[in-house]
Amino acid sequence: MQHFPIFLDLNARRVVLSGGGEAALAKLRLLLKTSARITVFAPAPAPEITDWAAAGRLTLHRRAIAPGDALCAVLVYAADEDAALDARTAEIGRAEGALVNIVDNLSDSAFITPAIVDRDPVTVAIGTEGAAPVLARRIKAELEERLPVSLGPLARIGKGFRKMAEHLPFGRARRDFWADYYFDAGPRAMDQGGEDAAQAALDDLLVRHLSASPSGGRVDFVGAGPGDPELLTLKARKALDEADVVIHDRLVSPGILELARREALMIDAGKHGFGKAMAQDEINTLIVEHAQAGAHVVRLKGGDPMIFGRLDEEIDAIAAHDLPYSIIPGITAAAAACASLGQSLTKRGRNSQIRFLTGHDTKGFADHDWRALAAPGEVTAIYMGKRAARFIQGRLLMHGGVPETPVTVVENASRPDQRILETTLARMEPDMEQAGLSGPALTFIGLAPRHPQAELHRLTPHRQEAL
Ligand code: SAH
Repeated sequence: MQHFPIFLDLNARRVVLSGGGEAALAKLRLLLKTSARITVFAPAPAPEITDWAAAGRLTLHRRAIAPGDALCAVLVYAADEDAALDARTAEIGRAEGALVNIVDNLSDSAFITPAIVDRDPVTVAIGTEGAAPVLARRIKAELEERLPVSLGPLARIGKGFRKMAEHLPFGRARRDFWADYYFDAGPRAMDQGGEDAAQAALDDLLVRHLSASPSGGRVDFVGAGPGDPELLTLKARKALDEADVVIHDRLVSPGILELARREALMIDAGKHGFGKAMAQDEINTLIVEHAQAGAHVVRLKGGDPMIFGRLDEEIDAIAAHDLPYSIIPGITAAAAACASLGQSLTKRGRNSQIRFLTGHDTKGFADHDWRALAAPGEVTAIYMGKRAARFIQGRLLMHGGVPETPVTVVENASRPDQRILETTLARMEPDMEQAGLSGPALTFIGLAPRHPQAELHRLTPHRQEAL
């Protein structure tokens, strides 16, 4: 983004424009929507400009702009449609401290004027950094159709009511009130009785919302999936859209965090000063505190929240305070990793069960029924298995595992930097060590990619590399 969109307060500020033709008229039509003090320099102004001057809407000087004319101006438009004249105007504007726009000259302009959909006070500005004016016009046309004309008056009336709405508690209650006004009661009242009815609807609505029982806090445990934002469920998306507070793990990818409601408070539970992760009971306390304060808390966990996510500890904490919660499942790493192998987790005649294991638990490397896991044809998905690779390999070989058993490690499954390592039980530890895995990695014992690596390049849009 080279051009940063902002809304500039032009009330009683000075804006200077040089030019009297078509380009000047187009800019002036926009500028006249504001309450800026507009001064135009034009030796031969179009009749509209003289009319506006006569009506006192702008000040007109029938001469070329000269040094000193842009003093105290915040914006200067060079709109003479003549390269030499415009360059001169721009020079004066810059020298006198204004931001300068030269019409149809992107590279020499300090700012650009976007395409605008005007439902004052709601203004939608559309910019394409000058790259595609056709696209901007099309988007504008679509928005013009989509946004009802009553939106402007509704917002204006709403704005005048903001102080009254502060009688409602901050946060969810106030948001529900405004959503009700803008998307339901307001448009209905406007259709039936115009602006007076919309004004009355606000009063009624406030009484109704004040007497409603305060909406309490709640917690959604949401699976963020393995990383690709498109692998989020619709329910997860909705929860993120409505959250007041999002408490997320380190594993949740930035593309997914972007989808959270802009005003939501984002808390990274994977960080706690000096790179240390937050302790579990600190996270529990955070969730409880925010929910008790009435917030809709989204506890966002990588993959599926019910798999190696310490979910029950968090549920115990909030259940102890009688707070309501729900669980929104997500795509677990094993499913995403297996998909990247062009494989199936179970297969008739190969494995009728699949085990999800953790490489280590709170006491260290986790122990399992190694003999059962080592049996031919078994498929095991190991989470958190990087550090435990040597231990797992040793245990399996010791309990009868065949050295040629296929082992596949998928690092950063579903992410742009996904990598796949094909190896065998005999070689898994040194191969993993040598690969220098730095991202989250899932290890499959007893499963090889269905297709050779060359084929895998075509299987998913993600880059896939043999390590
Ligand atoms: N609840 C998560 C697992 C949390 S445990 C889920 O259902 O996926 C964390 C482990 O998950 C990591 O150590 C790694 O083994 C695995 N993991 C998570 N995301 C992954 C990804 N994108 N690619 C590979 N493994 C992943």
